[in-house]
Amino acid sequence: MSKLEGKVAVVTGASKGIGAGIAKALAREGAAVVVNYASSRAGADAVVAAIVGAGGRAVAVRGDVTRAPEAQALIEAAVGEFGRLDVLVNNSGIYEFAAIEDLTEAHYRRQFDVNVLGLLLTTQAAARHLGEGGSIVNISSAITHVHTPMAAVYAGTKGAVNAISGVLANELAPRKIRVNVVSPGFVVTEGTHAAGVVGSDMEAGLVAQTPLGRAGRPEDIAGVVAFLASDEAGWLTGEVITASGGIR
Ligand code: NAP
Repeated sequence: MSKLEGKVAVVTGASKGIGAGIAKALAREGAAVVVNYASSRAGADAVVAAIVGAGGRAVAVRGDVTRAPEAQALIEAAVGEFGRLDVLVNNSGIYEFAAIEDLTEAHYRRQFDVNVLGLLLTTQAAARHLGEGGSIVNISSAITHVHTPMAAVYAGTKGAVNAISGVLANELAPRKIRVNVVSPGFVVTEGTHAAGVVGSDMEAGLVAQTPLGRAGRPEDIAGVVAFLASDEAGWLTGEVITASGGIR
């Protein structure tokens, strides 16, 4: 039997990049998937079409995770559509790079709003519906220990994700809800293209430091998330798994 048969999952920021890869992987393992997006409707629809075309179940649901009513509506939509909630993947995230001299309040707030507040609001809404066996997987970043220059704020958001995940693993453990983290290394996505990382010296430097010698792909991350979401990982909570080709 597939790992996630009968389960219902919400993946935030699944219209592209790593989130799209995760949504497809969870669906391949049998989960019904809510494909969340903030603005990229066409991307989310394409992910849903790929899942449904392969015989799976999925719907696209718009929702800005930084707004509490929208985060709540996203989770309610999952329960309304599929009747339950078993898995939440907090993947929505943004990254911007700036030298400390160029840092602005807006640069700080944008990233902390999506990467930290968004994760908290979505988790709060999901915690009301997750039952015994529920699984939350938070997407952090290997940048918390690779310490890439110009990424002070972004690394700060992901350090917060790791700390919050540890706390929530303990807080939700009495309800038998697990909380784990996947920390990707550099992955080629729409986001890293748009940020100008793909093809840059930063990419070359990261790949040169990666023992397995290449950039990551969304599928490299998605399989790890599917495992953590499943009952096969039933004895894992509070873990941070670095999926980075060995860079650390
Ligand atoms: P991406 O290609 O830019 O995709 C980001 C996704 O997040 C999109 O689906 C976007 O939706 C969604 N999103 C942004 N703001 C949102 C909001 N307010 N509410 C809901 N969704 C929102 O990014 P990615 O490279 O795949 O990264 C995905 C995650 O992995 C992020 O948490 C990132 O920090 C982490 N990560 C990435 C890398 C990497 O090298 N790519 C490495 C380590 C960690 P719309 O398009 O609809 O706006």
